[in-house]
Amino acid sequence: RQTLKSLSQTQLETWVMQARRHTQEGKLPKYIPLLAQANPNWLAVQIQTVTEQSYNAGDTHCTFPLMSVVKPFILLFLLQQLGAKVVFSHVGMKPSDLPFNSLTQLIADEGFPRNTMINSGAIALCSILPGINAFSRCENLRLWLNQTAGCQLTLDNQMLDSVRSLPNDRNLAITRLLTKAGNIHSPETTLDAYNHVCCLAGTVADLARIGMLLVQAHDAIAPQNRRIVNATMMTCGLYQASARFASEVGLPTKSGVSGAILSIVPTQGAIACYSPGLDETGNSKAGIFLIQQLAQNLNLSIFG
Ligand code: GLU
Repeated sequence: RQTLKSLSQTQLETWVMQARRHTQEGKLPKYIPLLAQANPNWLAVQIQTVTEQSYNAGDTHCTFPLMSVVKPFILLFLLQQLGAKVVFSHVGMKPSDLPFNSLTQLIADEGFPRNTMINSGAIALCSILPGINAFSRCENLRLWLNQTAGCQLTLDNQMLDSVRSLPNDRNLAITRLLTKAGNIHSPETTLDAYNHVCCLAGTVADLARIGMLLVQAHDAIAPQNRRIVNATMMTCGLYQASARFASEVGLPTKSGVSGAILSIVPTQGAIACYSPGLDETGNSKAGIFLIQQLAQNLNLSIFG
């Protein structure tokens, strides 16, 4: 049976070359000016296995903000710090078939976010991140991730300035709704903490390392929490494309508007990709293609 371990560097390079053809098909997001300046040709992948093998190909030197790929890790951190009972009193565990920044859904659900992988859910969680201000909430998450995963995430201040440079009416409205519903306190600090954590940045190697926290047993993480995060990524991680991707690929996966995308291959390893061009749903076009190739050719689906 093919597994992640049977991957060869040559094979990976061939798939990366094929994926390069898809980099031009995607669109760059306009609402964060610095993301709009990314080079659409960039494509990088890093694969880390539980047997300490690692493979990489493409523009692996690129540093990018995690954006929504940080969401599973806000969840993981808070499950560890505060426990599931507290976390799920602020946010649900239901898939959503509306875009990541939908207001309609949040209004219909009376200010209780569907899940932690969409903006409303992640913003709600940023209100319970420990820390006296936005920076320290982000810093606590960053230091915990760097210590437990052995990576080197940094806060990209230029990106943060860029995020703040244009008003994000949707995130503002989401924050107001959450406040009105009594779900969050200190809305300004909370939204700013959310903006900070979205700007935690690293390379595909860093992304694969944090992914490894979700792959197998780890001293610092309760197995139950790992399962919750993986299940949430599987059902909600790619927004409206989650269910289709679960059938076609069958791996817990999370994407971000920067073009970052992370797939977990439980018990085997983590696949981290970066390519800035996005499809209609907001998922990296070349990244999705590459993960599809890997999953289908190496039989990686958790459904066998
Ligand atoms: N900071 C971005 C936003 O809130 C993240 C969204 C994403 O990565 O999908 O719009």
